[in-house]
Amino acid sequence: MRCLLCSKASLSIICKECFEAIAVYPRVHTLQNLKAITFYDYDDIAPLTNAKYYPFGSFALKRLAAKAFKPFFGDLKLENQAALIPIDDCVGSWYSHTAILAKAGAAGMVTPRFGALRAKSQAKYAGQTLAFRLSRPRRFVFKDFREQNAILLDDLITTGTTLLEAAAALEKRGKTALFAVALTHAQ
Ligand SMILES: [Zn+2]
Repeated sequence: MRCLLCSKASLSIICKECFEAIAVYPRVHTLQNLKAITFYDYDDIAPLTNAKYYPFGSFALKRLAAKAFKPFFGDLKLENQAALIPIDDCVGSWYSHTAILAKAGAAGMVTPRFGALRAKSQAKYAGQTLAFRLSRPRRFVFKDFREQNAILLDDLITTGTTLLEAAAALEKRGKTALFAVALTHAQ
């Protein structure tokens, strides 16, 4: 196949040179009362994350998560173990994007907990306005996990409404949402 970024012949959807050249830029975003950290520039990884709707895209997600999240969580100092909660990790099409990111990205004191927050509403948010998103909440179904503290994980932050709703769903069950992480933030 060909590298999605440079079109050179490659064994995977992104060649080694292009993958290593993608810069990790941690940025902190404030979504009302929740901090969210993103790690990549949207334009740098868009060709890869757009591939997420195909089976081979899971490979790119794994590598992006391992490059950004893993060292971050490995270095993160926490008083207690925390759960890493992939948002809505139900298997929609081929595989769950957020579950793949959590599995490949967890390290140190952070353990992935799958299925903790699954959305009842499957309204498609892509390309929709904030008003549309607010009018169709995800209505998360909560499944308990061992840790008191949680870190939310999503692939992309657009308006932040999904993450805020997820954090509220955790707090309602007495859990603490420490912050959120995502690969990137749509401008
Ligand atoms: Zn390349």
